[in-house]
Amino acid sequence: MDLHEYQAKELLAAYNVAVPKGIVASSVEEAVAAYKSLEVESVVVKAQVLTGGRGKAGGVKICKGLEELTEATKSMLGTRLVTNQTTSEGLPVNQVLIAVLTDIETELYLALLVDRTSKAITVMASTEGGVDIEAVAEKTPEKIHSVTVHGELMPFQSRQLAFELGFSAKQVSAFSSLLSKLFKGFVSSDMGMLEINPLVIDKSGDFICLDSKVNLDSNALFRHKELAALRDVTQEDEKEVAASQFDLSYIALSGEIGCMVNGAGLAMATMDMIKICGGSPANFLDVGGTATEDRVTEAFKIIDQDHNVKVVFVNIFGGIVRCDLIADGIINAIKSLGVTKPIVVRLVGNKSKEGNKKLEASGFKIIAKNDFKEAAMAAVAQIKGA
Ligand code: GDP
Ligand code: MG
Repeated sequence: MDLHEYQAKELLAAYNVAVPKGIVASSVEEAVAAYKSLEVESVVVKAQVLTGGRGKAGGVKICKGLEELTEATKSMLGTRLVTNQTTSEGLPVNQVLIAVLTDIETELYLALLVDRTSKAITVMASTEGGVDIEAVAEKTPEKIHSVTVHGELMPFQSRQLAFELGFSAKQVSAFSSLLSKLFKGFVSSDMGMLEINPLVIDKSGDFICLDSKVNLDSNALFRHKELAALRDVTQEDEKEVAASQFDLSYIALSGEIGCMVNGAGLAMATMDMIKICGGSPANFLDVGGTATEDRVTEAFKIIDQDHNVKVVFVNIFGGIVRCDLIADGIINAIKSLGVTKPIVVRLVGNKSKEGNKKLEASGFKIIAKNDFKEAAMAAVAQIKGA
């Protein structure tokens, strides 16, 4: 789960990390009130959307005076921000952060992340902050420094990074102190990633986190009820939110074939097979090992609501799951939802004969195939036909 910038900054501040003073606002009136209470002339208005690249997309505006602030807030609130990291639909801007402007001397990059390969926490830092870190990694990888932390972050590791970044003696100690607070926060709040880009040194030489992106480990959220409550579903795909309520693993994609599969491995193989046959999947959907009639109906509902979907491809392997019950689920879903899109179904394994008989007896136009590749080809052919 990702946190908004303002939420991440509040969390960091709780670990005594320096962040610019700011107030979040969800209306122009609130933004004006926030501006007045900050008692400064210049502020930065920042769209609160769960994505990066806001600066280049017009989601970060420096404003001098009330008029500029009002204009900037109006131009952001209620719109959708499209950045180089979002889809073409972008994300809704429901809140803006009004923050005191920081006088930037230097922009740095700093990130902490769980590195599964080394089973440790990696701390990465670079003097090339503010810009695309991906571009730095590609063109000048020697400018990204990192240390791998097993267990506790040791002072010598912070110093090593600080020296590599070319800091002065005074800065080395300030940086080490910052890093130890960030590390403590990272571990205590069960973060998977913490990115501060830019981490700035201001005109008085202090380190300030100007931006912050926090990803929390979803599997640890049960330990952090107050953080779990910060989830903002308006930033997530509606279909993914609906799916999560029924424990369906669903990820929206941009293709035309809606997939309903049991088991993550078969779901991935199905996506591959669709690609091999010249089509493209509209989603990844694992109805799980205990696919029930109800969940099949819910899954159908989610797939059917996706306007990109032209064909539905059901691929079920009956192990514990009974294919005849899945067939009932499919028939009920077609009846109750009035699905009119072509449906290709492959039922194999436990009670598949009975399942296929039910599909045939239903009278609905369902294309049933036993062979995996033939089924995928049939789904692709339906699109080409359409
Ligand atoms: P992102 O584009 O989504 O990563 O948003 P950031 O919060 O990183 O802001 C983008 C850029 O706006 C930063 O790299 C800064 O150059 C600039 N910016 C943001 N806040 C301030 C500020 O308080 N003062 C100044 N001078 N620039 C800022
Ligand atoms: Mg940034």
